[in-house]
Amino acid sequence: MKNIYDLTREEMENIFIEIGSKKFHGDQLFSWLYEKRISSYSMVTNIKKEILDEISLMYSIDSLKIVDVQNDKDVSKFLFELFDMEHIEAVLMRHDYGLSLCISSEVGCNMGCQFCESGRRKKVRNLEVHEMVLQILMIENILKERISHVVVMGIGEPFDNYDNLLSFFRIINDPKGLQIGARHITVSTCGIVPKILEFSDFPLQVNLAISLHAPNNSIRDRLMPINKVYSIEKVMDAIDIYIKKTNRRVTFEYILLEGVNDRNEDALELSKLVKDKNCYINLIPYNETNNFGYKRTKPIQIMKFYDILKKNNVNVTIRKEFGSKISAACGQLRSKKEEL
Ligand code: SAH
Repeated sequence: MKNIYDLTREEMENIFIEIGSKKFHGDQLFSWLYEKRISSYSMVTNIKKEILDEISLMYSIDSLKIVDVQNDKDVSKFLFELFDMEHIEAVLMRHDYGLSLCISSEVGCNMGCQFCESGRRKKVRNLEVHEMVLQILMIENILKERISHVVVMGIGEPFDNYDNLLSFFRIINDPKGLQIGARHITVSTCGIVPKILEFSDFPLQVNLAISLHAPNNSIRDRLMPINKVYSIEKVMDAIDIYIKKTNRRVTFEYILLEGVNDRNEDALELSKLVKDKNCYINLIPYNETNNFGYKRTKPIQIMKFYDILKKNNVNVTIRKEFGSKISAACGQLRSKKEEL
């Protein structure tokens, strides 16, 4: 059975039309779910019981199970259990500008990046739309606070679950849904070129981030198998088209791995690669995990790398760190759970 949180407002309206009821009831139910936060159809007072019964036979209103929460200063990590006993995680970060939630998009991941914990287990399945929406809704309900920013950077490759991702964006952005502004939503991809191109036509102004992590193909081939399919040149061509069409700034994420991609000449090559693009580079201190040999770059070299980019007129930031103590690096909590 499908879940009611799978539906965009428009889809909900259409369901009511399909069962011979009124379109505006779809709109009403949507408000009950996202504004009044009901947990059962019986709490709806302005739609007839018979109609609700019919809806409830098609769409459950079940939520997910939260089976573990870990807290550290300014960061909390939530482990969710899904109906098929699979696990995903979401990480909440408290910034001075609001609460930001990093959500998962798939169970496991097929991209096989060499440094990433999430990819150690192959993809089991896509997350359904409701499984993405409920990560936000349930955490808001627990905290009794609104989440202002959402990043799709948890477990999974979001562009490998593209259609569900777009419905998810529509629901959380909806003024009658979770009301999260498109500019406060960011999706990160390892560089699935056809989807980057498709995404340039998506009408909501969601931010796009690309996991670059290397200044050339020989390094990127080693770190990210996807590069053998979509090389740096192909990704850059797609990004140029995306920027031209949307007039939006793109973020390149760059994890610094000691002795792998963090040398001065890598910084120089990276500057040349992104020269004249409407973009900025987010340098990410690597969250070390026990399962790979990679080491995080020492702070002094991180600063050196940063300075070289700056000197070459690249917009660059260093990511603020959250949660290395509570294994908040992508996929770590889930890995622990499933290897117990
Ligand atoms: N599949 C998507 C989104 C999930 S990964 C993507 O590749 O962008 C989100 C980001 O976290 C990516 O930039 C990824 O490369 C990075 N990441 C993965 N493991 C990490 C680690 N141990 N430390 C720091 N960043 C990591």
